[in-house]
Amino acid sequence: MTAIDPRSLDRELERSQKELADIKFALDESAIVAITDQRGIINYVNDKFCEISKYSRDELLGQDHRIINSGYHSKEFIRNLWTTIASGKVWRGEIRNRAKDATYYWVDTTIVPFLNSEGKPYQYIAIRSDITERKRAEEQIKEQAALLDQAQDAILVRDLDQNILFWNKGAEKIYGWSSEEVLGKNAGELLFKDRSAQFDAARFAITQDGEWNGEMHQVRRDGREIIVESRWTLVRDENGQPKSILIINTDVTEKKRMESQFLRAQRMESIGTLAGGIAHDLNNVLSPILMAIDMLQLRVTDENSKKWFEVMRSNAERGGSMVRQVLSFARGVEGERVALQPKHLVKEIVKILRETLPKSIEINFQIPNDLWIISADATQIHQVLMNLCVNARDAMPEGGSIAIKAENVFVDENYARMHIEAKPGRFVVITVSDTGPGMTVEVQSRIFEPFFTTKEMTKGTGLGLSTALTIVKSHGGFINVYSELHRGSQFSVYLPALDMPGTIDSAAAQTDLPLGNGELILVVDDEESIREITRGTLETFGYTVLTASDGTEALALYADKKNEIAVVLTDMVMPFMDGPATIRALQRMNPKVRIIAASGLGTVHRAGEGTLEGVSVFLNKPYTAEKLLKTLADVLHG
Ligand code: FAD
Repeated sequence: MTAIDPRSLDRELERSQKELADIKFALDESAIVAITDQRGIINYVNDKFCEISKYSRDELLGQDHRIINSGYHSKEFIRNLWTTIASGKVWRGEIRNRAKDATYYWVDTTIVPFLNSEGKPYQYIAIRSDITERKRAEEQIKEQAALLDQAQDAILVRDLDQNILFWNKGAEKIYGWSSEEVLGKNAGELLFKDRSAQFDAARFAITQDGEWNGEMHQVRRDGREIIVESRWTLVRDENGQPKSILIINTDVTEKKRMESQFLRAQRMESIGTLAGGIAHDLNNVLSPILMAIDMLQLRVTDENSKKWFEVMRSNAERGGSMVRQVLSFARGVEGERVALQPKHLVKEIVKILRETLPKSIEINFQIPNDLWIISADATQIHQVLMNLCVNARDAMPEGGSIAIKAENVFVDENYARMHIEAKPGRFVVITVSDTGPGMTVEVQSRIFEPFFTTKEMTKGTGLGLSTALTIVKSHGGFINVYSELHRGSQFSVYLPALDMPGTIDSAAAQTDLPLGNGELILVVDDEESIREITRGTLETFGYTVLTASDGTEALALYADKKNEIAVVLTDMVMPFMDGPATIRALQRMNPKVRIIAASGLGTVHRAGEGTLEGVSVFLNKPYTAEKLLKTLADVLHG
C-alpha cells in the first residue's frame, strides 16, 4: 500500500471544500442539502434540510440518514443506493422520508460522491428538492385510475387531435386492445371502420356544447362490430381552453341484439295476425265459390263446360290450401297429435324426393332402427321436412346432394344453455343437409321471418321456413341451423320424444358415459353460465376443473399449472384475447398442449383456417355433456 502524502490530503481537502462552497453557492435556495462522511454520518445540513425534516441541526449532525428513514423503500432500494455511491457513481432517485413529527415528505435526490486521489469516496453530498406535492397528485391520479379500472365501461381520454391519452381496463375488455397498444394512437382510425357522419356530428357538438351523448358503431380489435352508448365531455385546462375529451362508452351490442330480436318477434306476430285475418276472409270468399261450383256442376251437362268447372274447382281448392298454410303459420298449429315413429315419415319423404327431384341431386338417408317415438301431426311434420328438402333442392340448381339423417339425442343442460330455444330432454332429431352455396350470417339471421326469401319473386312465398318453425315450436321442439358459405346448409329439427317403455332413460344413458380420473381440465369461456355448467358436468364425471374467463387469465393459469393441466377446452370467440390467439400462446408455452376448441355456428372453421394447427379436436357449440365427455375421453386416451 502506498503511503499517503499528508500534503496531498490537505490539497484534496482544500479542493473539496472549494468545490463544496461552489456547489452550495450554485444551488438554488430551495435545495435541501446534506453532506455525510463515507459511512453516511451527517456532518453538514442546510436550513432547508432542518425545515423539511423538522429536526434541529444539532439533532441531525453526527447521525445517519436513518433518522429520516420512513420504512417505505425496500432493502434492495437502499442497497442499490449504497453500491452505486460506494463505487464512485452518482445516484439519483425519489425517496420518501419521515419528518420528526411523523409526517412524510418526498424528495428528488441526487447523491454525489467526492473521490480521493485513489478514486474512493470519502464523503457524499445529497442535494434534494421537495416533490411531495407532485407525488401526492400522482398518487391521487393512480388511485383514480385504479377506480376507473374497476368500471365495466370503457373510459378513455383523447386529446383534440384524437390521440388516445388514457384507456382503462374496461376499454381493454370491450375493445380487445391493451392500454400500451393504443396510447398515442388515433381514436378515429382505431375504433371506426369508416368515419361516420355520426362521429363528425359528435365532434361538432362537443366543440359547440362541450358534451355529446349518443350511440356509435365501432369495431373491436378482432374486427367484430359493436354498438356503444357514448358520452363525451370536453375537458378544459386552467385557462378554460379545451384540452381533451373524456369519453365513457357502454357496450350495448347484446342489448341491441335482444331488442331487435324482440322487435322482429313482434313484427312476425303482427304480420302473422294480419296474414291470419286476410286468410280468414279469403276462406270466406273461397267457400261460397267452391259450393257454387258444386251446384253448377250438377246443372251443366255439356262436357266442355264441365272441364272448365273442374279447372275452377281445382284452382279454388289450391287457393284454399294456400290459405290453410298461411293460417297454420298465423295461428300456430292445432293439428292432431298421435304417437308416431318418425322412421316411416322420413322413408316416405325420401321416396317422394327420389321420384320428383332431378337426377343431378343425390339423396342419402340414415335412420337407426331404435328411433324414439314422438307425438306429432304426421301431415305437419311431413310439411316441415318437405319444406326443408324443397329449399335444399332450390339451393342446388346445378345438382348436389341432400342427406337426411334421423337420430336420438339427449339435450342436456349444457346444450340448452348454449341454444336459446332448447330445453333439456330427449329429442328425435331429423337433419336435412345440402351441399349448396350456404348462407351468409345476415341471411341466416332472417330466414325464419315470414315473407323473407332469397328466391325469385315467383318461386318463393317466404313462408316455408317460418311455417316450419311455427309447426316445430307447436310440437315443443326447435330448429338448429348450421350453414357456411360454399359449404352448404344443415337444418336440424328437434322433436321431443315420448316417454314410452323401451326408450332409453336419460339417467341410465348418462351412466354409460366415459369417466375422468381426476385429470385437470382448464375451461376457458367468457360466458359464466357455460363455464359453470361445464365445470359441473366435468366434476360430476370425475375430472378436476380450473376455469378462466378470457385468454389472458387462461395463460396465467396455464403458466402456473402447466404440468398438471391435461387438456385445455377453449371457446374460440372471446373478448380481449380470442381463441386462436390463446391457442397460439399456449402452444408457445407447450408445443404438446392438448386443446379442444369449442365454437358456435361456423366460427370454428372460419377462425381456424390455416391458423390452428395442433388443436386436438373442434367441438361444435351447442354441445351436450355426452359429446363433451366423449370428446374429452378421445383426446385423453387417443
Ligand atoms: P438497511 O436494512 O440498513 O440496509 C439495506 C442494505 O443497504 C444493506 O443490506 C446494505 O447492503 C446496504 N447498506 C445499508 N447501510 C449501508 C452502509 N452504511 N454502507 C454500505 N451499505 C449499506 N436513507 C433514507 O431513508 N432517506 C434518505 O434520504 C437517505 N439519504 C442518504 C443520503 C446519503 C448521502 C447517504 C450516504 C445515505 C442516505 N440514506 C438515506 C441511506 C441511509 O444512510 C441508510 O442506509 C438507510 O436509511 C437505511 O435503510 P434500511 O434500514 O431500510 O436499510
